[in-house]
Amino acid sequence: MAQAKKALNRKNGRRGERALRGAAKTYHNYIGGQWVASAGGEWFENANPANTRDIVGRFPLSTAEDVDAAVESARNAFDRWRRTPAPRRAEILFRLGEILIRNKERFSAEMTREMGKVLKETGGDVQEAIDCTFYTAGEGRRLHGFTTPAEMPDKFAMCVRQPVGLCGLITPWNFPMAIPSWKLIPALVCGNTVVIKPAEDTPLSTYNLVKACEEAGIPPGVVNLVTGYGEPAGASITNHPALRLISFTGSTETGRIVASACAERNAICSLEMGGKNVIIVMDDADVDLAVEGAVWGAFGTSGQRCTASSRLVVHKKVYKLFSKKLIERARGLKVGNGADPKTEMGPVINADAVHKIMGYIEIGEREDRATLACGGNRLTKGDYANGYFIEPTVFTDVAPDMRIAQEEIFGPVTAVIPTDSLEDAVEIANGVRYGLSAAIYTQDVNRAFHAMNEMYTGIFYVNSSTIGAEVHLPFGGTKATGNGHREAGTQVLDIFSEWKSIYVDYSGKLQRAQIDVVESAD
Ligand code: NAD
Repeated sequence: MAQAKKALNRKNGRRGERALRGAAKTYHNYIGGQWVASAGGEWFENANPANTRDIVGRFPLSTAEDVDAAVESARNAFDRWRRTPAPRRAEILFRLGEILIRNKERFSAEMTREMGKVLKETGGDVQEAIDCTFYTAGEGRRLHGFTTPAEMPDKFAMCVRQPVGLCGLITPWNFPMAIPSWKLIPALVCGNTVVIKPAEDTPLSTYNLVKACEEAGIPPGVVNLVTGYGEPAGASITNHPALRLISFTGSTETGRIVASACAERNAICSLEMGGKNVIIVMDDADVDLAVEGAVWGAFGTSGQRCTASSRLVVHKKVYKLFSKKLIERARGLKVGNGADPKTEMGPVINADAVHKIMGYIEIGEREDRATLACGGNRLTKGDYANGYFIEPTVFTDVAPDMRIAQEEIFGPVTAVIPTDSLEDAVEIANGVRYGLSAAIYTQDVNRAFHAMNEMYTGIFYVNSSTIGAEVHLPFGGTKATGNGHREAGTQVLDIFSEWKSIYVDYSGKLQRAQIDVVESAD
């Protein structure tokens, strides 16, 4: 609880400035089809990072008791939901997709208000949830299994998917509706029931998604929402003995805690975690295009994407030109409240993020092996006074082993690293502990394929930035980014269902696999 309160104060900034709090709406958990307060009757506030005096809402500060109730409700609903034919489950999900479309504008505006990214990007976030819902609901009429020959005569072999059971979903704040949808929709189409806990900074967008589930007619208990902090709400989910699967997206550090807790009780665990993504710019690249990709990749969502382009490895022959154009573009970006259509980059999420990002900027300056080429300041005057704004920041001449080139900063900071060959660029690019996304800008198909083959990441782009995943392709990363699973695409079904192998022996006699010798037919 102490951690929760501390975090509450971090996000809300100066306590004396909560002028608008009186007008804030109160939201509830959703358990067993009822909208309820937390068992302890406590609340936390969700503040707008562009103006912390604007309190978006009050949400239940949930405890283990709330998680227990949500799990119990998921347990009660499970048999009925799993026995509902998958095409019928999907019909409800298609209705959900329609509701999301109807509310896209409102949901985007509310998302910008609670987490800061510009309206175009929050529109994209909601759109991703819509795409995910329609694409994955389509699986209700597929959920393909397979048949295969049996080694004995008069015997039939096949494999079908079955739901995993009760699932705990824990999500971060940077894609507050898209990421919950990536987990929720496949979980539901596969016949699971869920307890979802969104990040404490963005409960409203998940509330909107769950409210839409209710409106679509998803039966009570199938989807349960519990808001609150990592401790105790998230940890109570992770440790709950009845939750057979924990699907987590967030930092690598928290992911490790989640994975250990799951290992302890033999629960299935799928993890999507941090990144230190890279764009390689070769000497034959279209430099203007590469700069556009770098600006979008480094400063979109204020650099707070798991796929953010936080390293730019640039061939020495175009290094000066590229850096000059990048710095010009970064300096020209309009920073402000994401709700203003003219804003190009919004605030970062909270006071902790400011502290962390400014800390990395200091580290970069102190290490003396890089040049702070633009930005580097927190913006605090005028319209910026009550928000968490940081200038778009570019370091040039960065050594690849510097901390700013190795660690996930998760803010509007990018590191330009010189290179003199493709081989060297690939080595630098692979030389981090993460493995989410990489890109190359080149006109040479051989170079593009070489990099594509050599980069050990889950996602790779040619002549496009490190961001821009589509919902029908698998999403996830190697090394410290993940633990071998992929979300999205049809691959996500392997997280939310388990295989059952079925043998039907219609020979009327005992046939022992691997033991009885079967004569070949004449
Ligand atoms: P975070 O790890 O702080 O929190 C993520 C979620 O975990 C939140 O809901 C939080 O309340 C919960 N949590 C915190 N402590 C917990 C605990 N002990 N037990 C259980 N749950 C706990 O991450 P964040 O700051 O919300 O998100 C940023 C991170 O997420 C970045 O590292 C980013 O790269 C990563 N991310 C990864 C992907 C991906 O798909 N690979 C996508 C988006 C974000």
